[in-house]
Amino acid sequence: MTRLNFEILHWYEINKRNLPWRNTKNPYFVWLSEIILQQTRVDQGLPYYEKFIAQYPTIFDLAKASEKNILKDWQGLGYYSRARNLHYTAKKIVQSYHGIFPSTFDEILLLKGIGRYTAAAIASFCFDEQIAVLDGNVYRLLSRIFDIDLPVNVSKNQVEFEKIANEFLDKTNPGNFNQAMMEFGALQCKPVSPNCSSCPLRIYCLSYKNETVAFRPVKLKKQKIRKRFFIYWVLEKDGNVLLRRRLENDIWKMLYEFPSSEFPNQKEQENFVSRFLQFPQKTFKHILSHQHITATFIAIEDVSGFSFPDSDWIASESISDFPMHRLMTRYLEQRNH
Ligand code: SF4
Repeated sequence: MTRLNFEILHWYEINKRNLPWRNTKNPYFVWLSEIILQQTRVDQGLPYYEKFIAQYPTIFDLAKASEKNILKDWQGLGYYSRARNLHYTAKKIVQSYHGIFPSTFDEILLLKGIGRYTAAAIASFCFDEQIAVLDGNVYRLLSRIFDIDLPVNVSKNQVEFEKIANEFLDKTNPGNFNQAMMEFGALQCKPVSPNCSSCPLRIYCLSYKNETVAFRPVKLKKQKIRKRFFIYWVLEKDGNVLLRRRLENDIWKMLYEFPSSEFPNQKEQENFVSRFLQFPQKTFKHILSHQHITATFIAIEDVSGFSFPDSDWIASESISDFPMHRLMTRYLEQRNH
């Protein structure tokens, strides 16, 4: 154990909050607490944890309960998929594992509704697996102790943080150390106004030394999602279809698609679409990393009156020879079935 590890554990022994899930190594209880506490404050989650433990004292009780009752008991916590996944996974553990909770990170990670954070928490708290737990508090604490300027909200950096956290982990008591790291981040090294003046890590903390505490952790600003509304005109004549290549400096540059019209908002797009209700239509929601697209494809039989000078007629049967974006292929796949 390093001096730094010791200081964190020592601080934890003195300052930790007495929370019921800290006094157990029962993986069922720890799992319940971790799922309840996702997106939820401790003071809000605590009564739910106590209610669930009383109502469903074992995983068998949870597995055989009705989904309706579980959702009722969950009422008020929000994100109801958490409750549905809890029920699904309880049944899975009873059916496939005879009610015995899997004991390794890799096995636990396979369960529905359990991500890397929760799997590492259960594996280390309950089974002493030497694996670091990374929640927002730990990301912040590591960023500050080691003055790391890698953005914490970029998924490729997760691997680097996991490496650092696992090297830093106290291997003699990983579960306790993980809890200490999270608690230290939550109470001492807080996001705003961390208690540096009373911090036992101050002499080791690189961001304190480098005066970068206020800038750690680094977070990339999330790009704003742009909403876009299109109509795609599916115009066919004598076995040919009208196709254009996108040349604008925009998404899907150089890819082929049907001629399209873009509208500034949903209302204008829908008004326009309503003028063509006599023709077959298909609407798709298409999600790109920074754009959410609503596109309605309208297949027009009588193409007279339509003019798209930047488009060409091509034989319908050769359409698959042209490189197209995913929205186009989604439409074509549906149409051909
Ligand atoms: S000195 Fe400040 S920034 Fe560094 S670990 Fe302690 S509380 Fe966090």
